[in-house]
Amino acid sequence: MKLLNNIKSGIDKITVDNLKGKVTAIKDAIPTPEKKEKKEKPKKAEKSADKDNKEEIPDGFIKCPSCSAVIDKKDLGALKICPKCAKLFRMNAKDRVKAIADKGSFDEFDINMESVNPLNFPDYEVKIKSLQEKTGLKDAVKTGRCTIGGRPCVLGVMDSGFMMGSLGSVVGEKLTRAFEYATENKLPVIIFTCSGGARMQEGIVSLMQMAKVSAAAAKHSDAGLLYVTVLTDPTTGGVTASYAMLGDIILSEPKTLIGFAGRRVIEGTIKQKLPDDFQTSEFLLEHGFIDAIVDRENLPDVLANILKLHNVEKAGEA
Ligand SMILES: [Zn+2]
Repeated sequence: MKLLNNIKSGIDKITVDNLKGKVTAIKDAIPTPEKKEKKEKPKKAEKSADKDNKEEIPDGFIKCPSCSAVIDKKDLGALKICPKCAKLFRMNAKDRVKAIADKGSFDEFDINMESVNPLNFPDYEVKIKSLQEKTGLKDAVKTGRCTIGGRPCVLGVMDSGFMMGSLGSVVGEKLTRAFEYATENKLPVIIFTCSGGARMQEGIVSLMQMAKVSAAAAKHSDAGLLYVTVLTDPTTGGVTASYAMLGDIILSEPKTLIGFAGRRVIEGTIKQKLPDDFQTSEFLLEHGFIDAIVDRENLPDVLANILKLHNVEKAGEA
């Protein structure tokens, strides 16, 4: 009996030890969150090294993410283009209006419209406030009336610097009013889109803006008026799914990210690898989703010509 017990405990011990060994082996094989963190630590170190590099870049200079050249911000010029590799940096709404509208012609609508916090989303007001101070904007779009090449139109320009140009109630309302103004005054509408999509802090109120702006665009279209969109980097989510793709003419800047859901989400859903240039303006042009890719410096002339071709009379000649 004693022997049996000894054997038994021996077996138990062996089994438990073996199991322990196996469990450890399995544990080693599975990247636990802790281990992942450990593996990522070198990356973090790299990142902080990057940060150190960034800190070494003197004030007023910027490192081009495309060619890595350190450039004097002044050398990017008004159009924010890398002088070494021609990469297009993102333009804020103010600079864009300056680059597109005839000098001094922009008459801005709804300058002081700002968001409330319809869902009582935590810290939303604080975030809005700090972005307003940082960007000088009340929300992520500027709208107004202007002339381009002497021809009047209503211009809307989204700004990625304000919560990634997310489509909240203010963006939706301002664009809707811009369309309504244009319909009433028989003017074409030009919108520069740039957005990460719907604004999650406003939930369903944000989603509803897609339908609201689209309905206003439809009424403008029913009145026989021209609507042009210029898709800039990045145009994604609910903005792509609504007014960005409703233009009678859809233009884009080169190498612009345009899509609805992100690449990983789509690949995960359809279980297929997507082409490398998927969701670029070049890919979309090839597949008929957009009409033309226009270099940034040519946009004012191209837009002026489009207005001319659609019989928009020069201001003062109508
Ligand atoms: Zn560059």
